[in-house]
Formats: sequence, C-alpha cells, structure tokens
Amino acid sequence: MSNTEIQATTINTTAALTPPPCPYTWCAEPGLHDDHAGAEHTVTDTRGEEVIGARLLYFSGSTPTVGVGESDFTPDQARTTAVELRALADTIARLADTAEQA
Ligand SMILES: [Zn+2]
Repeated sequence: MSNTEIQATTINTTAALTPPPCPYTWCAEPGLHDDHAGAEHTVTDTRGEEVIGARLLYFSGSTPTVGVGESDFTPDQARTTAVELRALADTIARLADTAEQA
C-alpha cells in the first residue's frame, strides 16, 4: 500500500464517524439524533429556578410541537397560550406598578 492509499483510507474513516448535520436549523441537539429539540427559552424566579420554559420539539414519528412548561402544544394551541401569557405579563406589570404605589 502506498502512502497515497493510506491517506485516502484515513480521510474516509474520519468522514464515516462524523454524523450528518441535523436538517433543522432551529435544533439544538448535538450529534446523531432522531428526536429534535430547540433551545429552551425560560423565565426564572429570584433564585434562578425556572418558572416556565418553552421550546420547539419534533420527536421521531410525530409532528412538531411547542413545549411550554410540562405540556406539548400544537402550533394553534401554542398561539393561544402565547395570548394568555401576554395577558399575564401585562397583569404582572400592573401589579408591579401597584406594588410601587402601595
Ligand atoms: Zn435535530
């Protein structure tokens, strides 16, 4: 075997060990995987503990969902939840204003 043949073999082995890239640009899962999960977006309390989080999920054999807290929502359900969370955020801001005036 010549040196040229040995180098070609080494390159091919390295390429075979590298997993193919995930087709979803939003996916944060490393390496070879079948279940896709996006980056988690969270709100934390004063101790740094998660109050609520959300992320995109796409498990093998299912359809993409939006995980919010411990529940998985369809896109339409997730939009409804987003409306409810916006209303809650407005309420929290009003409570903060009231707390400053109390
Ligand atoms: Zn993925």
